[in-house]
Amino acid sequence: MGTSVYQDIKANLRALYLEDQRPWLVGFSGGKDSTMLASLLFDAILSVPPEKRKKPVTVLCTDTRVEIPAIVEMIENALARMHKFSEQSQLNIEVRLLKPPPEQSFWVNIIGRGYPPPRRNFRWCTQRMKIDPVTEFVNQRLGHWGEAILHLGARREESSTRAQTMAGRKTRNGLRRHPDLPRVWVSNPIEYLTTEDVWAYLLQNSNPWGGDNRMLYKLYANASGGECPIQIDTSTPSCGNSRFGCWTCTVVDRDKASEGLLAAGDERMEHLLGFRETLLEFRDPVNGWRDNRRMNGNEGPGPLTIEGRRELLKRLLTLQEDTHLDLITPEELLLIQQMWKAAREPDDGRGVARIVNKQRGVIMNADLNKLNRVRELEEKVAKKFDIRVDKLRRMLAKVEEYSESHRAQGLADDLLNILKDDVETQTTGSKD
Ligand code: SF4
Repeated sequence: MGTSVYQDIKANLRALYLEDQRPWLVGFSGGKDSTMLASLLFDAILSVPPEKRKKPVTVLCTDTRVEIPAIVEMIENALARMHKFSEQSQLNIEVRLLKPPPEQSFWVNIIGRGYPPPRRNFRWCTQRMKIDPVTEFVNQRLGHWGEAILHLGARREESSTRAQTMAGRKTRNGLRRHPDLPRVWVSNPIEYLTTEDVWAYLLQNSNPWGGDNRMLYKLYANASGGECPIQIDTSTPSCGNSRFGCWTCTVVDRDKASEGLLAAGDERMEHLLGFRETLLEFRDPVNGWRDNRRMNGNEGPGPLTIEGRRELLKRLLTLQEDTHLDLITPEELLLIQQMWKAAREPDDGRGVARIVNKQRGVIMNADLNKLNRVRELEEKVAKKFDIRVDKLRRMLAKVEEYSESHRAQGLADDLLNILKDDVETQTTGSKD
């Protein structure tokens, strides 16, 4: 493809930039498509005279906190360079690395709530760890802005589904309405480029913010497959098909990115790949780590048992020691403890501290006197109202969990499930 196509894209972007005041958002995942998109955008804005660079532009990237370490390092490096270059050249471009809140992290969902590691038909992670942080950020900003334009590096050639989705949405001046955020218009500047066009551009041009794309090319060469786009809505193709997803991803059959990095000498990946196998083991009901009742009380493989969650936490802390990576934070550990108290076979409120204190270098304090006082009080209340103390504890822990995350949606269902469990236990108990 001739260079005029790239020049045309930049000229269109420049014209769009100058057309109105609407702020821009730019999806960046660190993959080839979004790197090319960001590169074209930086060039387009550079071509605008400095006094006219008034439009707020935000490069958005998500970090699930279980991303492959080498990819995180590459992305953080690119974002730092973009930020510096924007300051030096007065581009008015800010960069934002968005992460899920601790209560929605991978480990809190799996080890705390007992969600089974994700699979194709129960991919609970993308919404919570990727889409929600972006939606929340955009909604916050939209409070100040009337409308915004979101640039994405999506291409029709990626898949026939993607081509159909893109062709099926009506455009206005080349922009499509975002399916979930009505005041956001989506622009796909590289929609018609082929993979060869993208690589040709990336390998022939250095990034405006500095650095070339040989490292990126090497990462792609180490593994084959599609790339993980920044997730903006549920119609974006599964990042589980991707090369640059989470190292914990059990949606893909094989994690080719991690395998490729290991083959290229990144020894951290050996441990992480081993742990991915552990997650697969825990997900499979035949291995006995799953409850035989679903979260809603129906028959079928349910959440990880409390024993399974404890075991997984032990193994995760060992992995943390072996790799020297920060895999789980003290805040997540506290949330997990809170959730264990509301589990089917509730923990006494000290289970996490017991496990953590056994591990070298990790200290977690639990105020045992306070815990004992609370437990005595719970027993008194249960006796007074003639209810089972386990049920009371689970319900209190659930309410506390929700109040800590400042939300109430879903609480009624969760409390109902605890009551259902209680009825089930009593029925089973009376049969015995
Ligand atoms: S890469 Fe896998 S684990 Fe990560 S959000 Fe996507 S589907 Fe979930």
